[in-house]
Amino acid sequence: MSKPKEMKRVANWGNFPQSESIVSEFYKPIDVEEYLSEHASMILRGAGLSYGDASLSKQILSSQKFNKILYFDTQNGVITAECGATFDDILKVIVPKGWFLPVTPGTKFVTVGGAVAGDVHGKNHHSEGSFCKYVTKLTVMLANGETQVCDRDNNLLLFKTICGGLGLSAIILTVQFRLKAIESSFIQQKNIVVNSLEEMLDKLQDFGASTYSVSWIDCLARGKRLGRGVIMLGEHATTKEVDRKDKLVTHRQPKFNVPFFFPSFLLNSNSVRVFNYLVFNKYKLFAKQSTVHYDPYFYPLDFVRNWNRLYGKRGFLQYQFVIPFEGAEKGLRLILNEISKSGLASFLAVLKALGEGESTLSFPMQGFTLALDFPVTDKIFPFLNRLDKMVIDLGGRIYLVKDARMAPEIYKKGYPNANIFRENVLLFDPEHKFTSLLSQRLEMI
Ligand SMILES: Cc1cc2nc3c(=O)[nH]c(=O)nc-3n(C[C@H](O)[C@H](O)[C@H](O)COP(=O)(O)OP(=O)(O)OC[C@H]3O[C@@H](n4cnc5c(N)ncnc54)[C@H](O)[C@@H]3O)c2cc1C
Repeated sequence: MSKPKEMKRVANWGNFPQSESIVSEFYKPIDVEEYLSEHASMILRGAGLSYGDASLSKQILSSQKFNKILYFDTQNGVITAECGATFDDILKVIVPKGWFLPVTPGTKFVTVGGAVAGDVHGKNHHSEGSFCKYVTKLTVMLANGETQVCDRDNNLLLFKTICGGLGLSAIILTVQFRLKAIESSFIQQKNIVVNSLEEMLDKLQDFGASTYSVSWIDCLARGKRLGRGVIMLGEHATTKEVDRKDKLVTHRQPKFNVPFFFPSFLLNSNSVRVFNYLVFNKYKLFAKQSTVHYDPYFYPLDFVRNWNRLYGKRGFLQYQFVIPFEGAEKGLRLILNEISKSGLASFLAVLKALGEGESTLSFPMQGFTLALDFPVTDKIFPFLNRLDKMVIDLGGRIYLVKDARMAPEIYKKGYPNANIFRENVLLFDPEHKFTSLLSQRLEMI
């Protein structure tokens, strides 16, 4: 166990909010037991790649030193890892043996514990579901220091409360999960340029049979061009489709780094407009179909370390919501018009069709999800409060691991199982030892 440290400022990926916290690290389960007996409240933190305050509190226990891969069944594609192992670590071991992650978010630096606690989804959610679907066993530690094993046959309620449960019911120590067989580490990528929102939504649904699909949209386009963008489809390439000797090559480490926080004025609606114009036209002119390595396809932002610093010291908010398919076109039109009118530009705007949710606090539902990044400014908070109401009126919800500012009533309206979750957490952690800034702000437990 690392010695108790002094108070320091900690923030997750969005750099907002920041907490004054004492961060300890652990190396063995016995360290966690000791820590739990000495602290009345705490939260577990993985890589801190949730954007807002899900893994922040005054007392933080970091899993990053508890990160070994324990067992890899190369025949059947099953792996067991300590909670602090990252997808980056795991990919380096599994890809050369012809296996891939069953589900992956847009960065490979998340920990397996964070992937379970957030029940993360990827570009294949519509076709293959979220990460917890592939989890076959968890070893966890309860607030009283007791270690338990849970899966779909044993301790099902505990298993279901932990999956997507944001570290509020137990500490995940190890995760066993199923992998996906691949013939190569390459993806057959097909890009389709679309010129309107109607076309975008129709095509995203038409391409439901593709394993991976996601789209980038120009969120500043107005009028007839509203919703224009590029759909990126993907399938794992077969050996025949890859014209090189080493077909199972892993990724390289990022070459670039943003060494300091940029001045925040660099990102404004004018620079975003130019960026969107260039991206849209690049796709219009070039490569419609290509074979690319999994790294740029799944993790396009990972090639620059600390890219979040481009948003300046005040940080940024990722606003990700989902709304049901029914009424989605009208709803998205309203929301995109509101964004376009506000002059509050989002550099990133990712739209995707989702399938049904898995866990008690599932973010996914059958519908469209849009993720937007906004620099933190005084104007952004009242603006997003307005968008929250529109999302709730459309029957949607906001993603908890990305959130840093929504009000408790928006959470309760968006997550119909909020009460069930609270009751279940109480069974496993009656004294609420596990608590985060997010759970306090949203009155989750
Ligand atoms: C660039 C980028 C792209 C992303 N793309 C996607 C995406 O496509 N889809 C998606 O779903 N998400 C996405 N995310 C969000 C990210 O996948 C999740 O927030 C994930 O949970 C982060 O994992 P982490 O290890 O950093 O956990 P943290 O951020 O440290 O913690 C997240 C939550 O998990 C809990 N937790 C972590 N470890 C444990 C443990 N061992 N036991 C109990 N609880 C634990 C924490 O308490 C907290 O509630 C993205 C994030 C970034 C920065």
